[in-house]
Amino acid sequence: MFEGNFIGGAWQPAASGAVDEVLAPATGEVLAKVPSSDKVDVDAAVAAAATAFETWGLVTPRERAERLLALADAVEANLDELKRLEMDNVGKPASIIDFEFDLTVDNLRFFAGAARCLGTQAAGEYLEDHTSMLRRDPLGVCVGIAPWNYPLNMAVWKLGPALAAGNTFILKPSELTPLTALKLAEIAADIFPPGVFNVLCGQGETAGDALVRHPDVAMLSLTGDVNTGKLIARNAADTLKRVHLELGGKAPVLVFDDADLDAVVATLAETGYYNSGQDCTAPCRVIAGQGIYDDLVGNLAIAVSALATGDPSDPDTEVGPVISDEQRTRVAGMVDRAVDAGAEVVAGGRALDRAGFFYAPTVVAGPKQDSELVQREVFGPVVSIQRVTDEEQAVKWANDVDYGLASSVWTSDVGRAMRVSRGLRFGAVWVNDHIPVVSEMPHGGFKQSGYGKDMSIYAVEHYTEIKHVMIKF
Ligand code: NAD
Repeated sequence: MFEGNFIGGAWQPAASGAVDEVLAPATGEVLAKVPSSDKVDVDAAVAAAATAFETWGLVTPRERAERLLALADAVEANLDELKRLEMDNVGKPASIIDFEFDLTVDNLRFFAGAARCLGTQAAGEYLEDHTSMLRRDPLGVCVGIAPWNYPLNMAVWKLGPALAAGNTFILKPSELTPLTALKLAEIAADIFPPGVFNVLCGQGETAGDALVRHPDVAMLSLTGDVNTGKLIARNAADTLKRVHLELGGKAPVLVFDDADLDAVVATLAETGYYNSGQDCTAPCRVIAGQGIYDDLVGNLAIAVSALATGDPSDPDTEVGPVISDEQRTRVAGMVDRAVDAGAEVVAGGRALDRAGFFYAPTVVAGPKQDSELVQREVFGPVVSIQRVTDEEQAVKWANDVDYGLASSVWTSDVGRAMRVSRGLRFGAVWVNDHIPVVSEMPHGGFKQSGYGKDMSIYAVEHYTEIKHVMIKF
């Protein structure tokens, strides 16, 4: 199945005939083979998208909205198969999959609505005998490069605003998880004119790189690793295309002594290990006050040790595998080095002895602020806890990382919640919760977590260019 790219409304194998194998993380077995594209395929996809832009760029907002709504309906009608593909290909447990797909459908409907609400400042006379007006024009061919942790959802966060704003679009899914992207192309085939929505599979260094460097691509949006973001920004500079980067995170969770301990523990045990902790906003770095630290470590260790880990298709499973053997080795190495440096594993801390790429949900107490475990993204089922003396130190440690994507504050003091929210250098701050996202609100980073926003009207605006038209009368 899925042996072709979807380019210009037709399925085409890679011109070279090369394929990549796609694995199932829960078993390590081959699930499918997909095209391993190179520059020749990229040129074909960009040409198809550029041709389609000549007409799609002119259609009314109403028509763009209607087609995005039709896509949302079609995704909803195919939910069972899409969920199954994502569960097989990412190892997501059946128990967590609904939330993500509900969000995906809602995102599409939001972007459909937003297509009809794009605005600019009102026209006016700023020079005698001249009327100025502002237009919001689409950019042209846009590219979305997606990661493996939420393959379909991240794709929709990019294709939704791009198509809503009147651009044409090429999606390059992660080489590890292309299956729902290809299914989406199949679903969308009759909804958009040929070339408006294309899916091109391949490795980052070949297919991805050729898209990044292509002179006829106007904008690219990456969700991925910080180092990939830096490389892409450099490689895109020669053609000065617009770049939108949603990169990694290292979300701090500031727990003050007046916090609701049970609520903190329940939220951490659920959201810190959701998707096996492979979430850029996952609450992975707890910074706790002296008065609550011991109870938090003890209670969290009990709750996390009780998480049901195993076969994703078992409805009782709460935590599945990580994406690959390489990722599991990386996670294990980071935990082992933290222990060597004096931190204590109070839950998990080991790979599971079974087929597939499983690592036990883990809590590490007492890593140092300058340690790798605190400073670098683990992207696995690992939460660390540090003890701080006061609010000032908590905010200082929270901000003392290169990342700036998401954070949370736990306190019953409203003044402290407001003060600390102001001080945190992160694109999102939750108070007494962690992780909920909604289509209307922007998602994106400060600092090395990248720039640009996904979701919300800000995302749609980012896929447009402002044009000034001045009329002499
Ligand atoms: P990755 O950077 O390895 O790959 C992401 C995508 O970039 C893939 O499609 C890959 O093929 C492509 N790519 C790699 N090298 C490329 C190159 N030289 N040119 C063009 N494309 C290239 O990331 P990943 O391992 O798939 O995903 C995990 C990372 O994504 C984590 O760091 C995580 O924090 C981040 N992430 C961020 C967000 C966010 O919203 N900020 C959301 C999810 C994941």
